[in-house]
Amino acid sequence: MKTQHLLFKIAILAIVLMLSACTDSQKDEDLSISDKTEEESLKTGALLEILALTEIDSTGLIFMREEEKLARDAYLVLYAKYEHQVFNNISQSEQVHTDAILRLLNYYDLRDPFIDIIGEFEDPALASLFDDLMILGDNNLDSALVVGALIEETDIEDIAILMEASDVPNIVQVYENLISGSENHLRAFVSDLNKRGIDYQPRILPVDQFNDIINNQ
Ligand code: ZN
Ligand code: ZN
Repeated sequence: MKTQHLLFKIAILAIVLMLSACTDSQKDEDLSISDKTEEESLKTGALLEILALTEIDSTGLIFMREEEKLARDAYLVLYAKYEHQVFNNISQSEQVHTDAILRLLNYYDLRDPFIDIIGEFEDPALASLFDDLMILGDNNLDSALVVGALIEETDIEDIAILMEASDVPNIVQVYENLISGSENHLRAFVSDLNKRGIDYQPRILPVDQFNDIINNQ
């Protein structure tokens, strides 16, 4: 019974793969299909040997490479506008974070989505998040500091999900360092907002978790 079930799944998978192969090669109709198939299976075989990573590990690293860049780019833009030192310091830390992810991408032979232009991202969700945050941050220094806190809350939340899903020691280690850095950054932005008379309340993290981070200096 189980075997039948499995075979059924394999049959479905084969049909899905055939269909997607057809769609892919529709553009170049007359290319030799058999050559292409051989090439593809060689490539797949090689990849399977290199990658011991789960799908969520590999897509997570590619995503975080850009999310850390988003933080860096946002703080570079906000520093240029307000010349508020905290943005300068933290943008340098975000460069270190995105570089740490790059080392993992290289180590696991994953592609690097990094576009070397401030504010440009391969991931459309991050591109539109960046635009929204920059509109908010453009109002005044207070709103720019709120943008900083929002970015750090988002980072902490996203990295924690990926870290929990991973069993790979060097990935978990990097995520731990990134979360610890993000917590420092969040404290810095919230403390600046407090000094300016603004009581920042969390938008993304649960209140208890947020309070633990803020009080754990
Ligand atoms: Zn970071
Ligand atoms: Zn940060």
